Amino acid sequence: MTTIAIIGAGFSGTLLSLHLLRYCPPPTRLVLIERNSQFGRGLAYATGNASHILNVPAARMSAFHDRPHDFLDWLTHQPDGERGLVAGPGTFAPRRLFGAYIRSLLNDEIKRSGRERLELVRGDVIGLDRGAHPLTLSLDRNRTVQADLAVLAIGNFPPEPMPIANPGFYDTRFYRPDPWAADAISGLDPDASVLLIGTGLTTVDAVISLLDQGHKGPIHALSRRGLLPRRHAGVPMPAADHEPFPTTVNALTRFLRKESARAIAEGSGWQPVIDELRPFTVDVWQAMPLPDRKRFLRHLRPWWDVHRHRMAAQVADRIDAARASGQLRVEVGRVRDYVVEGDLVAVHYRPRRQDELATIAVSRVINCAGPGADYDRIQEPLIRDLLKDGVVRPDPLRLGLDVTGNCALLNREGAISRRLFAVGPVTKGTFWEMTAVPDIRRQTEKLAEYLTGLVKAMPQGSSV
Ligand SMILES: Cc1cc2nc3c(=O)[nH]c(=O)nc-3n(C[C@H](O)[C@H](O)[C@H](O)COP(=O)(O)OP(=O)(O)OC[C@H]3O[C@@H](n4cnc5c(N)ncnc54)[C@H](O)[C@@H]3O)c2cc1C
Repeated sequence: MTTIAIIGAGFSGTLLSLHLLRYCPPPTRLVLIERNSQFGRGLAYATGNASHILNVPAARMSAFHDRPHDFLDWLTHQPDGERGLVAGPGTFAPRRLFGAYIRSLLNDEIKRSGRERLELVRGDVIGLDRGAHPLTLSLDRNRTVQADLAVLAIGNFPPEPMPIANPGFYDTRFYRPDPWAADAISGLDPDASVLLIGTGLTTVDAVISLLDQGHKGPIHALSRRGLLPRRHAGVPMPAADHEPFPTTVNALTRFLRKESARAIAEGSGWQPVIDELRPFTVDVWQAMPLPDRKRFLRHLRPWWDVHRHRMAAQVADRIDAARASGQLRVEVGRVRDYVVEGDLVAVHYRPRRQDELATIAVSRVINCAGPGADYDRIQEPLIRDLLKDGVVRPDPLRLGLDVTGNCALLNREGAISRRLFAVGPVTKGTFWEMTAVPDIRRQTEKLAEYLTGLVKAMPQGSSV
């Protein structure tokens, strides 16, 4: 019998399991391992806050690209109270409902396939011995799982702390390293002043959570460029232009500027110009020379991120209102140091293009700088173990781990593993756009097909 272990049961690991069960012939067995209590939700869809809504309309959130209405259909069959404000294809549903949808897909599949084919293991994978066949995964509480193939679906990690003069600050009670942890905003005086590091969607989530818990005090959000995500807009598509997409940074920037100006002149918004590029983004990324990809990350990434990862209108309205009232203040600059003074922290930062430092006093600093992706800095036992032995290596752009186009992991020397794979945001270095559901669902399907081919080619009787 062939066994495939999938480490992590967020959206990526769960979807991959569903596809493998469909494609892989019995008696192939899957072991889906998750350290948290809820399989299927992962980081993004575990939030209990109904104001944390999807940033992609319901019509584009199906788990399956060939059944585009699957999520919408599921939603319309939920009791009214559960559905909340969900009205139609353009609605932005609460993220926790999407998590419930993925869990229901998983439960249905278990009923269909049986526990013999899909075993759910609650545990933390802390090491992997790939010296022998089969692979041996070490779990907490001295447990092991053996498998012929293993897939890392370990998703997103908390943001990395910024380098500062006094790193000891990060050990104080004033700092919260994980914006998604329950303690990030709990226990705060409603009138306290708070600093959120970053101005992306994680910051937007944190602001919404603070407002929902009745926070009245000032909320500062600080980043190097001070760019907030733009809002979604239901704007008409501009007339199609079939000019090919350029693959150098300069040409692509010129192209997007020109197309956006044309779309706006034709009465559309710039949004469809970005959306039309989406199906080709991976191809553009992979065709772009490495120096250009580096330039893109250094100079253009903040602009790309705020135009590509947008806010639903109802979220944007609340953010705009908080800014207009003066409660939410966007600061532009770079933190130099934090100095604890009694019950407050003096945050010294250098505003953009100024020599003089500015200071704000806050009661709490929450790092909302976006998921940490430099694997050399991620302090997870499994990652440390894999890197120590050279089983994997960070990708050259420090966006994740180095993988091939078929998601096989590369080792320290650049050799391609035949047994270890990765899926989801871990693979961003190779694919760039491997963050949102529409991209990950395709990737999991393709990987399932590829792994099925490997399983079928395996000599019978030599497996676990
Ligand atoms: C806050 C947030 C909101 C988002 N909103 C949207 C949205 O609205 N629309 C959209 O299209 N995309 C959204 N995304 C992007 C995208 O959907 C997610 O990045 C995607 O769900 C990634 O899934 P994943 O399974 O790869 O990672 P994760 O969701 O991070 O799941 C990884 C899982 O692996 C487990 N794990 C990790 N290491 C181990 C280990 N060693 N042993 C056992 N288990 C382990 C973790 O506990 C976790 O459950 C959002 C992302 C975030 C972070």
